[in-house]
Amino acid sequence: RTLHLSNADVSYIEGSIIEKWRSRKFPWTAKLEDNNKKVFGNHSFRPNQREIINATMSGHDVFVLMPTGGGKSLTYQLPALICPGVTLVISPLVSLIQDQIMHLLQANIPAAYLSASMEWSEQQDIHRELNSDYCRYKLLYVTPEKVAKSDALLRQLENLHSRELLARIVIDEAHCVSQWGHDFRPDYQGLGILKQKFPCIPVLALTATATASVKEDVVRALGLANCIIFRQSFNRPNLWYSVIPKTKKCLEDIDKFIKENHFDECGIIYCLSRMDCEKVSEKLQECGHKAAFYHGNMDGAQRAFVQKQWSKDEVNVICATVAFGMGINKPDVRFVIHHSLPKSIEGYHQECGRAGRDGQRSSCVLYYSYGDYIRVKHMISQGVAEQSPLTYGYNRANTANTSRVLETNTDNLLRMVSYCENDVDCRRLLQLAHFGERFDSNSCGKTCDNCSKRKTCVEKDVTETAKQLVELVKSTGQKFSSAHTLEVFRGSQGQNVKKHGHEKLSLHGAGKHLGKGEASRILRHLVTEDYLVEDVKKSDIYGSVSSVLKVNMQKAYNLYNGQDSIRLRFPSLMKPSNPGTSEVSAAKGSLLSGKLSQIDNSAQSQSKTDVDLSA
Ligand code: ADP
Ligand code: MG
Ligand code: ZN
Repeated sequence: RTLHLSNADVSYIEGSIIEKWRSRKFPWTAKLEDNNKKVFGNHSFRPNQREIINATMSGHDVFVLMPTGGGKSLTYQLPALICPGVTLVISPLVSLIQDQIMHLLQANIPAAYLSASMEWSEQQDIHRELNSDYCRYKLLYVTPEKVAKSDALLRQLENLHSRELLARIVIDEAHCVSQWGHDFRPDYQGLGILKQKFPCIPVLALTATATASVKEDVVRALGLANCIIFRQSFNRPNLWYSVIPKTKKCLEDIDKFIKENHFDECGIIYCLSRMDCEKVSEKLQECGHKAAFYHGNMDGAQRAFVQKQWSKDEVNVICATVAFGMGINKPDVRFVIHHSLPKSIEGYHQECGRAGRDGQRSSCVLYYSYGDYIRVKHMISQGVAEQSPLTYGYNRANTANTSRVLETNTDNLLRMVSYCENDVDCRRLLQLAHFGERFDSNSCGKTCDNCSKRKTCVEKDVTETAKQLVELVKSTGQKFSSAHTLEVFRGSQGQNVKKHGHEKLSLHGAGKHLGKGEASRILRHLVTEDYLVEDVKKSDIYGSVSSVLKVNMQKAYNLYNGQDSIRLRFPSLMKPSNPGTSEVSAAKGSLLSGKLSQIDNSAQSQSKTDVDLSA
């Protein structure tokens, strides 16, 4: 299996020269290549692997940003094998650790792990081996709380160190250190103690997801000294991205999409709730797909069974919460569908990243409705959203940080909303910008919905409209949803509008002249940019929630005094010419040929703000 990365995608190092680490003249080069082939069965190195290994083996602290599936494990397992002593690996999940150890033992590399859930006698055996003069272990895996809570482990490390047998410290999934990341794990913050206690031991921190601020946070918390940073592009050229308005017919759309594009191929459908997983799976089974569900309410044996069926291709489509995916190595996942809004762009990127590991073209389709945003937001604020297994049960337990975590989560969600609302910019550009990476949308080659629409855009100053919307929210007493606000703004004479006498407001119908999706995009922009704030409240005893818009006066003031202006890009109007010329030719070769017409106006799906949460 090879991962196809073109040269353009290959690494650059921040603040250093890559050539030095690419050299094949290190004392260990021959041994490295030999073991890579013989022990690990790899024909060559993947991008950056050789460079990272050379840097860490030269004794530097190294920080690695490499997409999921890029091959991070090899960058510490291979050095562990050829260096004297034991490499300590901190990894967040026992199941991930077990999986790694199984592979290592298959390759005849002695490895062990210590976790709190282990029998005492078993732990004693491992300590005994570590204490022996001829300790066999090359790698010792531990979970972060072991470091934070077990004096025995720290003593053991000191012991190894004094005998010069502590080779290296590896922090896998290092983004868990940072509160700004989407997988914050308090125990990771305690890992700074390792550098304090063993300042001379090289640290290798690895992650597949880190924005610039997360990276800074991690480097600081771990106390890395003059660390060398390797990062490579997070662009995945073989993944085709699109966002589609979610309607009542969503499940039929999904069925049709799979049948037309990926019939009998393997895929994942990410759902928001456990109930959703079961519903979607059932519906797809009715439609003749080999589908199953996977979520946190199932016991370990059930989950393992489903995962096994899936890896053996007995089941094609897994309908899962974000609990599914970590450590999954299936190379031929042809599609990742999001049935609901993901909680952050980082999470979304990682979930999509499970598709197309073999480098073949794969689809990433997100069904978006504004109603789902309200639903996710409510689940986050209630602490009932399903979490990725990395953080399962951790964020909630950590009450001291609750408000900060909530704030970060809400902010992450809003960014995801504005990604979905954006029907102009290249999806790759938007995602990569989030990781601090610049991307020229010309390189997209129409592999995302927005690029393949090939609309020319115009930038408009919409400050006046924005002010009117803020004014309207104020004049209705800051008690109404964005859907209601838009109805009034567009001049609706509907019952809901009249019930509150809103047809008499001076701003009633002020936005009549605007294009269908325009007003809603401006309104949404005001929310994402914090001029308006959205409050979620339970509206009735059945548990349905609704959102209410409020004005953030401090921010809004800048609009009134002319300090802020708001400019947005809109698709320029196309001549209503022969239907089929430009649109259809743009649609050809697009993976969503049948769906392009639906993408046009996102407004239609956004009128529903009351969502049933009882499911
Ligand atoms: P990551 O931790 O970056 O997500 P892994 O270390 O789990 O990725 O590696 C993903 C897959 O790639 C594994 O199946 C691994 O065996 C394979 N792999 C890693 N390096 C190479 C290589 N140089 N050549 C071929 N396969 C590799
Ligand atoms: Mg990994
Ligand atoms: Zn694009």
